[in-house]
Amino acid sequence: MQALDARADLLRHQRASLPELAELAALQASRTELDNRARDARIAVDDLTVGQEKVDADVEAVKTRRRRDRDRIDQGLVTSPKDLERMQHELESLERRIGSLEDEELEVMARLEDAQRDLDGLTAQVAEADQRLGELAAARDERLAAIDAELDTVLAERAPAVDGVPADLLALYDRLREQKGGVGAAELRQRRCTGCQLGIDNAELAVIKAAPADEVIRCEECQRILVRTPESGL
Ligand SMILES: [Zn+2]
Repeated sequence: MQALDARADLLRHQRASLPELAELAALQASRTELDNRARDARIAVDDLTVGQEKVDADVEAVKTRRRRDRDRIDQGLVTSPKDLERMQHELESLERRIGSLEDEELEVMARLEDAQRDLDGLTAQVAEADQRLGELAAARDERLAAIDAELDTVLAERAPAVDGVPADLLALYDRLREQKGGVGAAELRQRRCTGCQLGIDNAELAVIKAAPADEVIRCEECQRILVRTPESGL
């Protein structure tokens, strides 16, 4: 039974310390960071898109004004030389304004392209992390299922040994196992506790010998439950 309990402890330990669990936690953290960066990149793309639309609209507005001025001149609506000169000046100034707005437009477009490339890269990295997370979770579940199946087998094998053992004795045994490095009970062999390897003195041996078979005997040195056998030397 002690071997089965040790096996069960080992399985529970394996269950809690699967390498996939640490990998999953680390990957989840980096995925969160990538996702935050992707969100920032998306905000940048949205802002630049709005900026581009605004500068496009500005260019259009100035071009409309230029077209209207030209039409008026072409249709001969501006007759006085003074007005015509003023109009020519305005057209030159509109021309310069269009030039600078178009430069601005190109710059915003270039920045938008860069931001979009950043966003696409980050989005791909998040998707990659999600895929790896899925694979790791599947591997973890597979390992857990295998461990649980073995644990069930071990516990099923242990059941007959536990059957009929009083609950308080089992509780004592479990507590000792926890405190004593996994060994809660030890055979008394050749007048020696096999738990702590110390000899039992004659007076104590006499007490043990006189005790009823169903009485729980404890080692005075290590407190483990002592199991009497024909080789105990009593
Ligand atoms: Zn002992």
